[in-house]
Amino acid sequence: MAEAPESTLMEKVVNLAKRRGFIFPSAEIYGGFRSTYDYGPLGVQMLRNVKNAWWRSMVQNRDDVVGLDAAILSPPAIWAASGHLTTFSDPMVDCRNCNERFRADHIGDTCPSCGSKDLTDARDFQLMFKTHAGPVEDDGSVAYLRPETAQGMFTNFLNVQTTSRKKPPFGIAQIGKSFRNEITPGNFVFRTREFEQMEMEFFVPPAEAQQWFEYWVAQRYEWYLDLGMPAEKLQLRPHDADELSHYSAGTTDIEFQFPWGWGELEGVANRTDYDLKAHSSASGSSLEYYDQASNERYTPYVIEPAAGATRAMMAFLLAAYDEDEVGGELRTVLRLDWRLAPIQVAVLPLSKKPELEPLAREVLGKLQQHFYCDYDATQSIGKRYRRQDEVGTPWCVTVDFDSLEDGAVTVRERDSTDQVRVALDHLIAELINRTQR
Ligand code: ATP
Repeated sequence: MAEAPESTLMEKVVNLAKRRGFIFPSAEIYGGFRSTYDYGPLGVQMLRNVKNAWWRSMVQNRDDVVGLDAAILSPPAIWAASGHLTTFSDPMVDCRNCNERFRADHIGDTCPSCGSKDLTDARDFQLMFKTHAGPVEDDGSVAYLRPETAQGMFTNFLNVQTTSRKKPPFGIAQIGKSFRNEITPGNFVFRTREFEQMEMEFFVPPAEAQQWFEYWVAQRYEWYLDLGMPAEKLQLRPHDADELSHYSAGTTDIEFQFPWGWGELEGVANRTDYDLKAHSSASGSSLEYYDQASNERYTPYVIEPAAGATRAMMAFLLAAYDEDEVGGELRTVLRLDWRLAPIQVAVLPLSKKPELEPLAREVLGKLQQHFYCDYDATQSIGKRYRRQDEVGTPWCVTVDFDSLEDGAVTVRERDSTDQVRVALDHLIAELINRTQR
């Protein structure tokens, strides 16, 4: 397997993402808009696959985690209690020469943009997006766009606990958009102002917090490996004591080796009872759990695996990108796990001749019940295979003239390019079997 050179990997993936409809710069016809991106036909599907893989492992396959979808618009009271209004800010410095603004912890004592040493002192910059709910723009109508999904799980802790009749240890999971007015967005979708998170708050008896923390670090690391991330591109990094968030008694980041260095994919934190206690005292509604069996009342500790869906998708694209040679020709291939591939099976009639279409469409209809499919009848078959390889399609099914006689089709596998003839009656079983390997 040929390794794509790291220096240009980023450019190649960004180009591929644009060219094949994964990710477009937002508002491009107006010249673009400040590090915002739109997810095209293949991108929205792949992002959905990343989120589905997370939901399946965190909610569907467990009986101790339930889902939630909370509002994005939220009152200042939530963010005052959570600590975000006072502490959710990054110290910033401005360059007096070129007026660029940078995170103080990202630069030394010279401006990375123009090299000037004439920088302001560091000042706090509030990262939350503020808006007004309703027609009047006064202090009473202030609302914030959530900067994390987590607070929805804390404020709904008792609603969810009582309606789902769960007892700690149990978790609440949520996937959704979050917004941060990042000073230095960049590196494609690694850091954007609007992004998607996949977070789960796991409520536990305080004495069990450390053991669950270790459990979730291991589980979440395994999730990336299971979806095909190479182990050498992943690392676990425990935070130093002086780096911990205001709520955390321990955090370990799961990091990916991006082309510019190691970067966080996900943080697993022991948030203690900080948030539930803060909301209990600020709202006056007790968020304690009453354990009938032991007749005890306590505030659970919370273990939180917090991942970025959009950032994870980018990492999966970077890890999957490869170039090799097939039949003496250079080929670009995304070696995506079939669960993440935006197209899982492509149905390709060998030629555009009308005789092939009815059978090819019948095959498509059957496959669509199980897989995300594409149907492509234009260009030579070799070119169509390359187009599918480039977007990571694991299997191509070719319908040819023999198919009309023998009721069989050719299944081609992306990585090996191996082709086998499969009877139509066995096609679904054959492909499902391949997903199990
Ligand atoms: P960073 O140090 O990179 O700013 P963070 O530690 O503030 O991240 P968390 O608050 O732990 O991030 O958020 C959990 C996850 O959400 C991150 O691991 C990342 O995957 C994702 N995330 C956070 N901020 C952004 C962003 N601006 N753009 C894209 N994804 C983000």
